[in-house]
Amino acid sequence: METNVIIFGHKNPDTDSICSSIVRQRLANKMGVNTVKAVRLGNINKETEYVLNYLGIEAPEYIEKVEEGQPVMLVDHNEFSQSVDGIENAKILEVIDHHRIANFQTAEPLYYIARPYGCTSTILFEIFKQENVEIDRETAILMISAIVSDTLLFKSPTCTPQDIYVANELAKIANIDINKYGLELLKAGTDLSDFTPSELINIDCKEFVEGNFKFQVAQVNTACIEDVLKDKENIENAINTVISNNNLNLFVFLITDIINSNSSCIVLGNNTNVFEKAFNTNLENNTAFLEGVVSRKKQVAPVLLKNI
Ligand code: MG
Ligand code: MG
Ligand code: MG
Repeated sequence: METNVIIFGHKNPDTDSICSSIVRQRLANKMGVNTVKAVRLGNINKETEYVLNYLGIEAPEYIEKVEEGQPVMLVDHNEFSQSVDGIENAKILEVIDHHRIANFQTAEPLYYIARPYGCTSTILFEIFKQENVEIDRETAILMISAIVSDTLLFKSPTCTPQDIYVANELAKIANIDINKYGLELLKAGTDLSDFTPSELINIDCKEFVEGNFKFQVAQVNTACIEDVLKDKENIENAINTVISNNNLNLFVFLITDIINSNSSCIVLGNNTNVFEKAFNTNLENNTAFLEGVVSRKKQVAPVLLKNI
């Protein structure tokens, strides 16, 4: 194993990106490899903060960019547009991911583990089993948190039977009531009160590139869509700034009601026609309601990409 390998998830990290990087580091440590370190590419969100406080563990160190030749392992993403600055010239040793593979290439062979599950931690659980490494309680809770977050407590269409099976196995190890813990965790993530509009649209924002077409899809979880839309005008101003600073064709801001499993969205940019065509809808005041839509990965990004 190389020295000083860093492990990270995507920019604007979510609970899976943070917890799975920590878990990947612990797996290496338990296998006797101590030259790897989990790091993060952005601020810890409120939901992830809940997990770290619950366990009393520190957030991984923040890094902004990597030097040429830096050995890295990626979890929870592969697209370079969502990764660390300098990734093009880093040495990618491994990817463990559950997303589409796009805008990704390496100069050298690598370990690449992809599964179409709801969460990276579900894949990590399988690797612990394969390698016959014991999962301790704290690690189990990190993985449960990632699964609950990514699958919205098993309600997202991205959730697979394997995610449910693994979460229940982990709950036995952790001796935790997964529904009770999971609801508290998700609730912590819906506290949006401290964020300015520009922070709000950046909590969980991903960029997608298809040829010359560049768009971002941001998402927040809430128990009340109307509360978020109260600040619509300021949010729109923040979105328009991001569009012009990054030359985006389109920006979609999903406000997801995690109680009723629907989303409202604010859609801006020169190519909102792509959104209207994709969802067969007409925007009203730059907004649309998407019945039953909660997953960017499964219900939004691919539909947009198909209609570019
Ligand atoms: Mg993620
Ligand atoms: Mg994930
Ligand atoms: Mg997510």
